[in-house]
Amino acid sequence: MKKTSLQFLQAHANLANVMDELTPTLFGEAYRENGGQMPYDLFIEAVEQVPIAISITDKKARILYVNEEFTRVTGYQAEDILGENESVLSDKRTPREVYYELWHTIRSKKVWRGTLCNRHKFGHRYIADLTIAPMLNGQGKITHYIGMHRDITLAHEAEKRVINQKLLIESVINSSPMAMVVIDDQNKVILDNHNYKALVSDLDKGEPATYFLHKLRDEMGELWGQLQSKEQGFNNREFRVEGKGSRRARWFSCAGNWFKENEVHVDAFFENATKQYLILTITDITRQRRQMEELHIQTLKTLMAEDERVRSIRETLLGAIHQTQMPMNQIKAAEQILKHKGDGQNAGLLHILQQIQQSGEEAIATMQKCIPDIVQATLISVNLNQILHEVLLLSDQRIWGLGIEVQWQPLTELPSMPGSENRLRILFKQLIDNAIDAISSAETGEQRIKISTDTDDELIYVCIEDSGPGIPLEKRSKVFEPFYTTRPTGGSQAGMGLVMAKEIVTQHHGFIDIDPNYDQGCRFKISFPLHRQEPRRLA
Ligand code: FAD
Repeated sequence: MKKTSLQFLQAHANLANVMDELTPTLFGEAYRENGGQMPYDLFIEAVEQVPIAISITDKKARILYVNEEFTRVTGYQAEDILGENESVLSDKRTPREVYYELWHTIRSKKVWRGTLCNRHKFGHRYIADLTIAPMLNGQGKITHYIGMHRDITLAHEAEKRVINQKLLIESVINSSPMAMVVIDDQNKVILDNHNYKALVSDLDKGEPATYFLHKLRDEMGELWGQLQSKEQGFNNREFRVEGKGSRRARWFSCAGNWFKENEVHVDAFFENATKQYLILTITDITRQRRQMEELHIQTLKTLMAEDERVRSIRETLLGAIHQTQMPMNQIKAAEQILKHKGDGQNAGLLHILQQIQQSGEEAIATMQKCIPDIVQATLISVNLNQILHEVLLLSDQRIWGLGIEVQWQPLTELPSMPGSENRLRILFKQLIDNAIDAISSAETGEQRIKISTDTDDELIYVCIEDSGPGIPLEKRSKVFEPFYTTRPTGGSQAGMGLVMAKEIVTQHHGFIDIDPNYDQGCRFKISFPLHRQEPRRLA
């Protein structure tokens, strides 16, 4: 025991008072349970050995007592420091306002808690976590101060290092060109970067993480749970996000990795509980996609031109056969009548009719041989938004060339339906080409094409309307008949476009109609069943 320290204390202060003040503070319950009695020696020993640096001062901060831990933390033996002011510990780096606040607090008879920079006897600095409590006498006047402090330099450094690491991680993820977000097991965003924050306003889909998680779970199905339980990541999951209003669709690629972190809350103090997080990166791949799409459109243009040529030859020949068949039937009927008369007078005419019939049949047979085959189309799951978007790109030169305004209003989450991509592309290309032709034939007025998609529980709807002259009421029922055209000069495949369109819609078990209630141009309404059917082939 440091006799010097205690002797000093006994000589300069009313130790009994100090004892009375300190004992309940330091011994709490034990003191009270003992009926407010505490053996003097036990008290001295305890204060002396308690592992926190204790000093007792007078009202001017002159040190009257220090314990062993004080010597260990500050380097000062009692004999070095007793009688000195606590300010010998000051490194003089602590701002004056801190001392001002310290003194203001303790002089107001309140406890002050704070952190100061102290200087060890050997010169090095340390961070002191300090509590100063005023001690009052029976009249409520301050007689002494008791200071208790710990060297928290290591903890402070560790804390700073954690903060620095966090800042470093934040600056690394902020400099990433991808949007990054960390999501907890309740799907709550707990960390994100600048690019992710930009997505929040850009996408207009609420919390982007929630939106993409929903899409990922939908797409991956059971695989999601399997990867999550094994903490295996995923990548290159690409999604198309429809733009709002006139904004174009965008593409994003998602990658994710799960990781576990030790829980920090009190309940997990003795149990090593962990929590799972997902780090999700979202990359905007719209530019790459558009480049790919342009290439794809070029290929489609070539394929469709060839396909259209084949179909136009085919439809024209079928139509010609159909039209040749009509007079042939009449000739056949005339032949039957002559044969039936059987009077021999018309033998020459009968012979001519038979010859005409024979050469007619030969012509039909020749035409039939010339009908080119159509490659069979496989039925797959198709998204009509995607197909309509491609068809618009196929026709964009004509559309922009004529200054036509396109109002593209796809339903954002349009479900897929079974169909032939190629045939549906031909269908919509035909309808959009018709709309462009109709608008360009009209001399004045607005030039507008509106395309929208929609769905209910059973059907997918596509609506294509134009601001052209429209189809007169009396002609509407005929436009789906072969070789019927409302155009005065006809066209390269005059009157077969809508026949083919109707055929494609029927092959997909759908309906196509002209909206009778629309009078500002022409509006085609097409509907397809939504429910899946067994895959089959379309001719
Ligand atoms: P000082 O001239 O001592 O004081 C600076 C300012 O403090 C003054 O302008 C004034 O606003 C205020 N002040 C000083 N003394 C008084 C007073 N008696 N009454 C009212 N206001 C006053 N400081 C440390 O740096 N490290 C410590 O570990 C530490 N432990 C302390 C423990 C106790 C129990 C007490 C009572 C004080 C302690 N102090 C400690 C504060 C110390 O006493 C000094 O106030 C401080 O170190 C600043 O010293 P200084 O020489 O720079 O300025």
